Amino acid sequence: MRVAVIGAGIAGLTAAFRLRLAGAEPVVFEAQARAGGVIGTERIEGFLVEFGSTTIQTANPVLDTLIRDAGLDMDLLPASKTARKRYIVRGGKPVAAPGSPADLVTSPLFSARARRRALREPLIPRSRPTEEESVADFARRRFGPEALDYGMDPFVAGVYGGDPKRLAIRHAFPRIWRMEQESGSIVRALLRGRKDKKNRMAGGMFSFRKGLGQLPEALSDALGDRLRLSAPVRRIERQGARWIVSGDRLLAGHAQTTWSEPFDAVVYAAPLHALASIALPEGPSLEPLSRVVYAPLAVTAMGFRREHVGHPLDGFGMLVPSVERSIRILGTLFTSSIFPGRSSASSMFQSDIARAPAEHVLLTTMIGGMRNPALASLPEKEAYDLVLGDLRRLLNISGEPVFRWHTAWERAVPQYDIGYGDTLDAIDRLEAAWSGWFMAGNYRMGVSIGDAAKSGEEAARRCLL
Ligand SMILES: Cc1cc2nc3c(=O)[nH]c(=O)nc-3n(C[C@H](O)[C@H](O)[C@H](O)COP(=O)(O)OP(=O)(O)OC[C@H]3O[C@@H](n4cnc5c(N)ncnc54)[C@H](O)[C@@H]3O)c2cc1C
Repeated sequence: MRVAVIGAGIAGLTAAFRLRLAGAEPVVFEAQARAGGVIGTERIEGFLVEFGSTTIQTANPVLDTLIRDAGLDMDLLPASKTARKRYIVRGGKPVAAPGSPADLVTSPLFSARARRRALREPLIPRSRPTEEESVADFARRRFGPEALDYGMDPFVAGVYGGDPKRLAIRHAFPRIWRMEQESGSIVRALLRGRKDKKNRMAGGMFSFRKGLGQLPEALSDALGDRLRLSAPVRRIERQGARWIVSGDRLLAGHAQTTWSEPFDAVVYAAPLHALASIALPEGPSLEPLSRVVYAPLAVTAMGFRREHVGHPLDGFGMLVPSVERSIRILGTLFTSSIFPGRSSASSMFQSDIARAPAEHVLLTTMIGGMRNPALASLPEKEAYDLVLGDLRRLLNISGEPVFRWHTAWERAVPQYDIGYGDTLDAIDRLEAAWSGWFMAGNYRMGVSIGDAAKSGEEAARRCLL
């Protein structure tokens, strides 16, 4: 069975890898000159730069098996224990966030009143299962306004670059929504989950020794010449039971030649917004898909000499709530603290793992998102100035950065907004109407790398039925 896989992000690569292992003949067409989509790594001047994603969370069976089958389990790099601590900015300063419901009682992040309100959460009745509630309304209703401002709002910025007033709790955070529906209370569900080993999220944060880019690289290597780079798909047609997929071959960004090939099935694993640039057969309306908004994000990595940073950087990073109006960044990862590059066995400095050279630190900052979309397209110099200004205030930085790197994602993360159920229904309708057509990507089962990989695996499984 010949299968055209469109898009070589983690969803498309996973689908193709699984199809190949099952004996099918996938061909992956990728518009860009490299595979990986928003995952990619480069080491520049001794700093390890991640273009987009920085960490994966294991305890996702699809991702765990994928990593093993791709031969990368020995290269998994766990986040340091330090990274368990997270900071949220309050009053213009990073304040340690509570690590568990029990810590909430003493956490300086929340006022005594907010803590008392949050403790009443188990008494709040659950919402109707048919209701589409925003993340903001959900957090306010269950835990109170401060829990929204200093808890859910910065968390949403970190995961989606999103606006909690627009995102739908049941689609954007289905696990939390199910906790309310099944246990009647998030606190009760968490406490029960701690007791019940089966339910416990045992996984931790990981990367690979040479960065997250190792995952798409290993999958690409396994696909060999079944992966066609610089080959954007422009047209998809149906001819009886077959699919004809056509596109361009790019050289230095310009179309040099065109190509056209027959397939038995298509796995569409490019973003939803890319559908608009592809000529498609007649079929059910794509309008609910074209409505999906993607948050723009820019990533700025900065390296400093350690002695120039006053903050201990003893954590995963810091997130900025939208109510902290004097600060414009969305948040910063303390990248070189998450993966300090010391082997736990020998405590020797390992330069191939380290995210920054000795005596230096690397900070990775996100700007833009739905909160302030225009910031994602700032010219590089202005973005550096904005980020540096905020970092100086928040982390007490004195010297100049010794390293800078910036990238912008015009449409970075799909927003699972209120009404997203229509989008998911439209995808199902399309798959039902077009036999041999399957869809995978971060718009389907969640936006994390694990969820995108799961959607790829699921598309491959259905394709093989
Ligand atoms: C800045 C940032 C940081 C993130 N951090 C994390 C993190 O730390 N942990 C985590 O779990 N998740 C993170 N995420 C989310 C996660 O990385 C993504 O949701 C996931 O990798 C998306 O995978 P995908 O395959 O669905 O899509 P993509 O990676 O977007 O891949 C789609 C591919 O399709 C290609 N394409 C588009 N049009 C065409 C066409 N016409 N023909 C052929 N190819 C086409 C694109 O070039 C692209 O390569 C982050 C996302 C961003 C943007």
